[in-house]
Parts: sequence; C-alpha cells; structure tokens
Amino acid sequence: MKPLIAGNWKLNKTVEEAVETAARLKIILQGITDKDILICPPFTALDKVHHVIKGTNILLGAQDVFWEEKGAFTGEVAPEMLKDVGCDYVIIGHSERREYFNESDETVNKKIRSSLADELNVILCVGESLEQRKAGKQETVVEQQLEKGLKGVKKADMKFVTIAYEPIWAISSGNPNHKPATTNDAQEMHKFIRYILNILFDDKTAESTRILYGGSMKPDNVKELMAQPDINGGLVGGASLDAESFAKIVKGF
Ligand code: PEP
Repeated sequence: MKPLIAGNWKLNKTVEEAVETAARLKIILQGITDKDILICPPFTALDKVHHVIKGTNILLGAQDVFWEEKGAFTGEVAPEMLKDVGCDYVIIGHSERREYFNESDETVNKKIRSSLADELNVILCVGESLEQRKAGKQETVVEQQLEKGLKGVKKADMKFVTIAYEPIWAISSGNPNHKPATTNDAQEMHKFIRYILNILFDDKTAESTRILYGGSMKPDNVKELMAQPDINGGLVGGASLDAESFAKIVKGF
C-alpha cells in the first residue's frame, strides 16, 4: 500500500509563511512518487498554498470542516468550499478539536459523511488519553470512535477514508515532554484498528485502508515506525512545520 505522510500545521503560519514552506517543500520533495505527501495549512492559507503546489506531488488538506453545505452557520466552512480552494483531504476528529471544541463522535460522523458525499478524502483521527490507557481502556475507546465515527459510511466509500491513530499522550506539539508510542504499542493498536475495520466492513476493506500513526513522529523515529506491518504512514504535527524536517520524514523510510 502506498504510504501517506501528512503534515498538520495546526494554528501556525501566516499566508506568507505557509507559501514559503510549501514552495520549499515543492523543491525538496520533487520527484517522490512512491509516497503520498499531504500538507494541511490553516484555512486562511489554503488558497494561496494550493496555487504553489498545484500540479506537483504534494496534496492539500484542511484541518476541519462543517457538515452543512451552506446557510446561517457563522464561522463554518463546508466540504464543497474546501474543494473549491483545492483541498484533496480533510482531517476530522483530531483530539485537539475533541478536547477544546466539543467535537463528539456524532459530529465527527456528520462531518465524515458530508465530506464523503462531496468526494473529499477524510482522515479520521482516533486515540486514547493517558488516563484511558492507564485504565486499560485504549481498545474500547478506539473501537467506539471508529464505530460511531464511521456509522452509516458505505463500504464503497471507505476508499476515501484514512484512519490516523494518535494516542493523545504521544502528541508533542502542545506538550514537548510527550514521547512517541513504542513501535510495539503503535503496531498493536494499528492491528486492532484493522481488526475492527474487518468487523465493521470486511477483510478487503480492512486490508486496503491506510492507517497512519501520529504522535511525535520525527526524522529519527520514522523508519522504525514505518517498518511495522500495519503502519501505513504518519500524521505529523510539530515536525511538519519546518520544510527540511518534514522532508526528512518523507524521505526517511
Ligand atoms: C498531531 O497532533 O496530529 C501530532 C501528531 O502532533 P505531533 O507530531 O506534534 O506529536
């Protein structure tokens, strides 16, 4: 399966800075075709960044979306609007949105279904907190997030869905003390996610769905993580902000 390395820039970069980073990435990642490469700038920079990377091997994604198409929903952005500014992907259900913006499995599900209806690829983020892991509940938590998040999604639409396993205790941006999951812990959970996809859909879907790892992925640990059989890529926060470090991750396995 072709791996995907996605950079989530979160609430960082002015339009000028985003364009500069994208322009640098365009040069240093030129010619890489055996991996999919995705960058997710803030909404404000999507249009300009699109013009920089259009026609290259770098895909564009947004960090969130709303489920309605249009109307009186101040502050929201619809899937069609993201496509209009060149987005191929959208990240849905990131733990920061779940924690700070009351994102629930139900709203995640609405956003996924609405995006799929508009043929926008989605990255569904799942992952447990430290407390949940300490209590041994990590599999129950992730299973619920998958089940509820993917409720009503058709098997045929799963080709537009990527899962990102991001244990909250491993996410470094926001907490520099956080460490990545061990490769064993990550692999074990990825295998479990595939098992759940098999139950929710079928074997073929489980085998062909990309499952990204997210949480302190860096140039020095990407190789070991990507060597795991069920890790098909990475969702990178902090280390994606600098073009050179993101490129090292893309090229590092
Ligand atoms: C993230 O929040 O998606 C993430 C993986 O962050 P970081 O790489 O900084 O741990």
